[in-house]
Amino acid sequence: MESEYWNPLLETLPREKLKQLQLRKFQRIFTWAYDHSKFHRLLYDSAGITPRDIQSLSDVKHVPKVEKSMMRNIQNKDPFPYGDALCVPLEEVSAFRQTSGTTGQPVYQPDTWQDWEWWSECWSYVLWSQGYRPRDRVFIPFGYNIFVAFWAGHYAAEKLGCEVVPGGVLDTQARILKIQELKATAMMATPTYVLRMAEVAKHKMGIHPSSLSIDKITCAGEPGAGISATKKRIEETFDAKVYDHSGATEIGAWSYECSHQPFGMHVNEAMFLVEIEDLETGEIIEEPGKQGKMVITALDRIAQPCIRFDSKDVIEWDKEPCTCGRTFRVIRGGVIGRADDITKVKGVLLSPGAIEEVVRSFDGLGDEYEVIVDRPGDVDHILLKVELLTGTSRSEIEPRLRDQLRLKTNLGYEIEFFEYNSLPRYKLKARRFKCKVALSQP
Ligand SMILES: [Zn+2]
Repeated sequence: MESEYWNPLLETLPREKLKQLQLRKFQRIFTWAYDHSKFHRLLYDSAGITPRDIQSLSDVKHVPKVEKSMMRNIQNKDPFPYGDALCVPLEEVSAFRQTSGTTGQPVYQPDTWQDWEWWSECWSYVLWSQGYRPRDRVFIPFGYNIFVAFWAGHYAAEKLGCEVVPGGVLDTQARILKIQELKATAMMATPTYVLRMAEVAKHKMGIHPSSLSIDKITCAGEPGAGISATKKRIEETFDAKVYDHSGATEIGAWSYECSHQPFGMHVNEAMFLVEIEDLETGEIIEEPGKQGKMVITALDRIAQPCIRFDSKDVIEWDKEPCTCGRTFRVIRGGVIGRADDITKVKGVLLSPGAIEEVVRSFDGLGDEYEVIVDRPGDVDHILLKVELLTGTSRSEIEPRLRDQLRLKTNLGYEIEFFEYNSLPRYKLKARRFKCKVALSQP
């Protein structure tokens, strides 16, 4: 009988054994980086820590974190263009990618062929757990380029034996027609782009997305599939299951929502070590239900290792194990937000995801919205821009929207209503949250 798991041994390993595996792998990658990269050697020597000091998982927290800005600072130095965090001879690098640069100058990411195989192995856990099988025809509506995005998802789908259709430089209408023509059964895209495709199909082409044969969609690149109102919107529009995944150029494909949809994502703990750090105190949080930012180690990536990387993703452990039987822990609600985006408005912590949750739960509002946080005088001010769908009455929606926003975020908003299709549309990742208030981050 076909297994529910991509790797039945690792995905159901008892927790104690899993921790032993993580410790051994951490020791191995830490030693590797210490021995092969000047950048890492200097960082660890300055902190007075060596691989021999890691005797248990609780020693890991003493290893200095790596910030994105540190990686940015070594770029363009020797060996060009990666700098001295590179742990292999340049000849062994077989792939270049770079971060999208949404928070500054992009960071270059080298991978060896072994790293690249590791990428697709990590993605194989994701796709198998979401029901991808060899009979699937997978359409990838992604502009294959210098960003890693869905590249590894593409190769993992091939590795599983699926048939993969690269959507490449086709425009949105051509992609929809190709999905229709080939009866594709699955696709991978950012939630923003999936909603965009639905909009174009319905309003420009007269094709209802539910008439397409897509039965599962893997969303990544943004938190949308972890926000239940957004997920529900996509699932109903396409009559398909929507699954969340989170990965990053510097980290790898570290998490996945399985087909049991536990309202969260499993961390692939055989391949990654995830720690959650308290936003205020910096202490490591072990208990479920408490938010903090993720510090993550990719346990097997060798060219430019990712060891205790300060990802700034805000997450929390779930209380319950998932019903699927995997022993990998679940982070509740997926990636809740970015530590950079979580801001204090009038003394209240505000996460953009909470606003999206409310806006997308209103049938009369369009998918797009925009939030602008400003402090014109001494008082914080939030402007929310939404689109009213035709046939919907503003006077009916506005009071309910205000109530829900107040209930979910404890804040008041100025709300501006726009006609459908007048706010900006995004192709890959959206920039709907604009904060003009200086943030004080720990
Ligand atoms: Zn599960």
